[in-house]
Amino acid sequence: MTLRARLTAAFLTVVAGPVLVGAYFVGFAVTSIDRSQSADRLAVAATTVRTAVDALCQQLRAAAEVVALAADRAAAAGRVVDRGLAAAVRVTDVGGQVLHATTPLPAASWRDCAARTPADVPPGALAARVDLRDASGAAQGAVTAAQPIDPAFVARLAVLTGAAVTLLDGPDPASRLRHTTESAGVREAVLGAVGGLDGEQVVGTDDGRYLRRVDPSDRQPLSLVLSVPSDRPPSLYAALVAAVLLAVLLAVVVAGRLARATSRPLAELAGAVDRVARGDLTTRVPVRGRDEIGRLAGAFNRMTRETGTYVAALTSSRDQLRGHLEVLGDTLASTHDLQGILRVILHSAIAATGARAGAVLLVDPDGSLVAQATEGLEAPAGEPGPLRVPLADLVGAVAVSGEARRGRVEPAAALSGEPPCRTYIAVPFAAPRDGGASRADSPSPRPGGPPDGAAPATFGVLALYDRLGGEEFDDDGLVTLRTFAGHAAVAVDNVRVHEETQRLSLTDPLTGLWNYRYLRQSLRREVERAIRFGRMLSVLALDLDRFKHVNDTHGHAAGDRVLVEFARRIRGEIREVDLAFRLGGEEFVVLLPETDATGAAIVAERLGAVVRDTPIAVGGLAAPVLVPVTVSIGVAVHPDHGRTGQEVLNAADQALYAAKASGRDTCRVAGAAKAPAPVPPVSSDEGPLRASARREPSAQPGAAGGNGSETEVAPGSGAVTPRGATSGPHPPRQSRGR
Ligand code: GH3
Ligand code: MG
Ligand code: MG
Repeated sequence: MTLRARLTAAFLTVVAGPVLVGAYFVGFAVTSIDRSQSADRLAVAATTVRTAVDALCQQLRAAAEVVALAADRAAAAGRVVDRGLAAAVRVTDVGGQVLHATTPLPAASWRDCAARTPADVPPGALAARVDLRDASGAAQGAVTAAQPIDPAFVARLAVLTGAAVTLLDGPDPASRLRHTTESAGVREAVLGAVGGLDGEQVVGTDDGRYLRRVDPSDRQPLSLVLSVPSDRPPSLYAALVAAVLLAVLLAVVVAGRLARATSRPLAELAGAVDRVARGDLTTRVPVRGRDEIGRLAGAFNRMTRETGTYVAALTSSRDQLRGHLEVLGDTLASTHDLQGILRVILHSAIAATGARAGAVLLVDPDGSLVAQATEGLEAPAGEPGPLRVPLADLVGAVAVSGEARRGRVEPAAALSGEPPCRTYIAVPFAAPRDGGASRADSPSPRPGGPPDGAAPATFGVLALYDRLGGEEFDDDGLVTLRTFAGHAAVAVDNVRVHEETQRLSLTDPLTGLWNYRYLRQSLRREVERAIRFGRMLSVLALDLDRFKHVNDTHGHAAGDRVLVEFARRIRGEIREVDLAFRLGGEEFVVLLPETDATGAAIVAERLGAVVRDTPIAVGGLAAPVLVPVTVSIGVAVHPDHGRTGQEVLNAADQALYAAKASGRDTCRVAGAAKAPAPVPPVSSDEGPLRASARREPSAQPGAAGGNGSETEVAPGSGAVTPRGATSGPHPPRQSRGR
């Protein structure tokens, strides 16, 4: 059942119930009053009937006495009749013989005025009798005066009483019909109800009449029924029923309208809620008033509006999140790209806090912060290179203390090196606590790296500037950014660890020069570059002279010191773009991109001189021993002495042997006539370079001896292996390198 139907039923009950009860009481009251008034009228009529019949009886008695006292009773009777005192007079003797009678006489069965019981036959007249006696009192007869009981008589009674009169005496209904003033239409009904009358009880008929009996009493011998019409309007009940129906009909209409007016906003609201449930948050309902439903509609509209705003914000933040996820995905794809990760960290932090600009700065060994990624910041005026911030003031202080900071910068504040800003927030990047152990044995720990077992050390700062809207960064932003920076620092640290590990795997731990593995990569790369750009590439093969003797004389440690110093001097003599490698033992290689044989020979001469001219000090500081060292160098050039890196390296090796053979401490350029023996091309990028078979130096003309064994130092391992064997890739060394 709908709300509208329920409301209609409720309104109907409220309205129609009282109408029905009222109609019932009206009908009941009108009927009661009508019955009471009719009973009163019938009581008056009954009294009137008794009085009238009594008066007639007294008149008849007086007339009979007049005749009885008269000497000439016949004449007296005639006068009595003439004067209308009686309709007829009859004189009888003791035996009942009529002595004299006026004419016409009324029909027989006269009803004596003194009679008490109802007559068995219909009375023809009402009679009063006076006995005739002589002087001694003996009965002589009687004089009876009579008045006929006919329709005229009954009609007179009706006129007197104002009620319809019916004479009941006699069993014959036909005679009753003869002596009644009831109208023809109701006569049968009235006579039918006579049987139910009891004493002076008032009874109503279906025809709207009230009946009452008038039984014989003193001086009133007739048995009569009086009836009066009801004063009640004949269509009272019909009118009441019609009124009730009309009231109910009106109630239905009004209730329907009221229910509709009440339920319509609710129905609209229910429909709107349905639409909202289906996802349409633009739904609104009309507000038609300030009543409860109007307030409800207003609240609903506010709720949907705010929910819509909230959903829009959620959608937008979801889209942002999706964008960030894509960026994160890209970042994951380039996990080892430190600059890329720093850019993503900075961009995400700026988006999360609503900053205008920001920078990620890492601690530099020179004691300042250097921006590795910036966004929204202008390049520092007049200073080349990236933004540098000293470890002081705002952001620098965060790097020193390791404590996050936020605040507002006074316009007049002079901050050295800090980007100009109004508000700022800065959180430290700290290396994880357990990250230091694996790098503790590194020859040169990273700047800011945590010492073993120490608290996390700050190695950078994430700084954001000028919150959009002009307000300061709040504590929530600080907490968010600190948490974010904690995770970001782990990612950055991982990349740095990875980079360092990669670098260590390509360097020689003793000298810090590149190792044999990196030589293979570099030689291949440089040869490809030289071919592509049509440039020359020179390769120097270096071997310390009689190094075994150094070891034998001064010890292995001293030999190591010589190797380290020799490497340092090589680095000091070559360009930034040149690459120096230690293959193993006391054998080195230098790559000189874009350098021809002449230039390479000059470099070789310079390297020989720098080693030769200054003996290397070994032993303790207290008793240093100067060890004179010389080096033999072979030079080969691409493409003159080989098509591949391996061929050029072999050529340089051959030239080195030539230098050894020619007395050491010299350099030789590979000659065209001495083209290297063809070697199989390198099959893959990771395939090892093969050292060419080296001739025994002592076997060469002018050679100053040797150990006589054909040996080759495995690149990067420091171990001596049979010459000609491939050393293959080696595990990364834990070294700082250059
Ligand atoms: P040559 O002039 O013919 O090159 O004579 P050499 O003694 O230098 O030649 P050889 O290859 O016979 O000797 C190399 C020596 O280098 C043998 C080994 O004792 C020494 N050596 C190799 N690796 C290392 C190292 O890592 N440290 C030290 N101290 N010595 C090494
Ligand atoms: Mg050697
Ligand atoms: Mg040597």
